[in-house]
Amino acid sequence: MKRIGLLFVLLFTLTAYAQEKKYAGQPPITIVPTTSLPVQKQWKGEFTFPDSDISFSNDFIGARLNGVAKNQDGSFTVLITSENTPINMSPWYAFKVWSKSPRTIDVFLTYQQGAKHRYYPKLSTDGREWTAIDSTDYVEYEKGDADFGAGSLPVKVKLKLPVGKKALWVAGQELETSSHVKDWVNRISRKKFVTQQVIGQSTEGRDMNVVTIGKEKSKQMVMVISRQHPPEVTGYLAMRTFIETIASDSRLAKKFRRKYTVYVVPLMNPDGVDNGHWRHSKGGIDLNRDWSNFNQPETSSVRDFMNNRAADTKGKFFFGIDFHSTWDDIYYTVDPKLEGNMPGLVTDWLTAVKTALPNYEPNIKPNDQLIPTAVSRNYFFVAHGAESLVFEVGDNTPRDFLKEKAKVSANELMRLLLDR
Ligand SMILES: [Zn+2]
Repeated sequence: MKRIGLLFVLLFTLTAYAQEKKYAGQPPITIVPTTSLPVQKQWKGEFTFPDSDISFSNDFIGARLNGVAKNQDGSFTVLITSENTPINMSPWYAFKVWSKSPRTIDVFLTYQQGAKHRYYPKLSTDGREWTAIDSTDYVEYEKGDADFGAGSLPVKVKLKLPVGKKALWVAGQELETSSHVKDWVNRISRKKFVTQQVIGQSTEGRDMNVVTIGKEKSKQMVMVISRQHPPEVTGYLAMRTFIETIASDSRLAKKFRRKYTVYVVPLMNPDGVDNGHWRHSKGGIDLNRDWSNFNQPETSSVRDFMNNRAADTKGKFFFGIDFHSTWDDIYYTVDPKLEGNMPGLVTDWLTAVKTALPNYEPNIKPNDQLIPTAVSRNYFFVAHGAESLVFEVGDNTPRDFLKEKAKVSANELMRLLLDR
């Protein structure tokens, strides 16, 4: 009895300790050249086998499948490769698979040298609604023992997949491509106080869209961007709820929109997203290193847009936020000792979010090295005085919690901006 009690205490302590572990954040940003580099496009089509009725396909927009091999035992190995190297550990995969007769197959996910498996597989029958694969159908190999980062990942994984005539979709994160984003933009733009405009073209000629919420000529402005990095879908999902809350019919939102205008670029890297890039733009560049050089059309279109807005309205950007995803929820803020157009706003905001969400402890990493600006947060702050931050959502943060947090965050921000 005593022993069981001790074991229980030990387990409880270990669990409590595990829950307290927090992602320490990324190391300081490396400044790199941002002139364009070549990228490798993926071959698109069906992968079939003469001695099997199983077919794979990557013939759709977004994410990657770069090769499929049939193994001796009837299982399959797929290969996922990046647009170029060096590259971050964020292999973004998706494929469809089907067979003439229903059965269960084993599929190994493997990656180019140096890369490991990161995104937990999601399944779909229509490419729209996704469910995480059952953990009993998922096996990890050579998993690292770190809590976060590359050291926490398995080298490869095996999926047990039920296949039949109707294609099964398998993807690393929910597939949110430029057409899905466009659908969302069109939906939200039905509101009479929401408009959309094109502010430029990406390297491959896709539109750079800005959604405007509120009055056109307001002097009090907020800048929101998302998806500089293609697989960072959870950050994008949080951005959507954040914006939907600001565009909602609540009394707070209506009052807020009378005073402030919010500009949103929901998809900063449309080429990267549609080509299934792990990180970079079609220019082969991490766009979130180009906010001082502005060598890429995606970043320079937003720079020009913000400068034009500030000049046209003679107003100011009071707040700027850039939504991303990483290993765990974290906020990369500007050190509060540096003062922009509304000193203390971000600190007060995160305190308000903590108070509003029971048992939630925000993981905040301030930064005071803002020059060269390189990243959007620094540019928003240095060039426009906008109190700014990077809002990072964990890859595996439960989708209902990330929405709840985004909603609370939008409400607390509107309250604070109105109070000042
Ligand atoms: Zn990112």
